[in-house]
Amino acid sequence: MNAAERGELFIVSGPSGSGKSSLCDALLKQSPNLYLSISCTTREPRPGEADGREYHFLTRELFEAERGEGAFLEWADVHGNLYGTRKPDVEAALDSGLDILLEIDWQGAAQVAEKIEGAFRIFIMPPTLEVLKERLILRGQDDASTVEKRFKAAESEMQHAGEAHYQIVNDRFEDALEEIQTIYENNHS
Ligand code: 5GP
Repeated sequence: MNAAERGELFIVSGPSGSGKSSLCDALLKQSPNLYLSISCTTREPRPGEADGREYHFLTRELFEAERGEGAFLEWADVHGNLYGTRKPDVEAALDSGLDILLEIDWQGAAQVAEKIEGAFRIFIMPPTLEVLKERLILRGQDDASTVEKRFKAAESEMQHAGEAHYQIVNDRFEDALEEIQTIYENNHS
């Protein structure tokens, strides 16, 4: 790759339980020039999550202060918590020739697509809503009311699948991985 060449931006969205994080992790492991952007969030860390690794965990006050300064490329309220992508981090990485992957919701994806020309939007879907509900329950990460909230949010997130350039149905993980790898391979420099 030419050193002066700007990296490409890939935006992966999809409902909780679609398996998008596992797909992104697997893609990242196999793609040396592709880096995950670490988002900011006001939600509490889950067990096993570390500040600066899964997210930058911010208080609402800090988040709102950064937002007021225009620090975010995009931000959204998801399930009652605020999430956002720091603009300077993404711009600097792209400028230095790295490819960047954003794992963000459809609201954020739409904002980024408006601001960054040529960003690729990928939407990960579960095979059915029933399977998605099962996955949300089985992963045992959230209590029943949170699962219900996430399921409702998933139903509305799914309505935005058509806005992405690519849709992947994550039924068999290996097949979905092959699809996302192909999309990356075909679109990065
Ligand atoms: P979770 O709290 O389960 O990690 O993520 C909840 C949702 O927030 C997921 O759909 C995830 O993709 C989305 N999300 C994570 N980071 C960001 C971000 O920086 N911006 C936006 N708009 N959504 C995000």
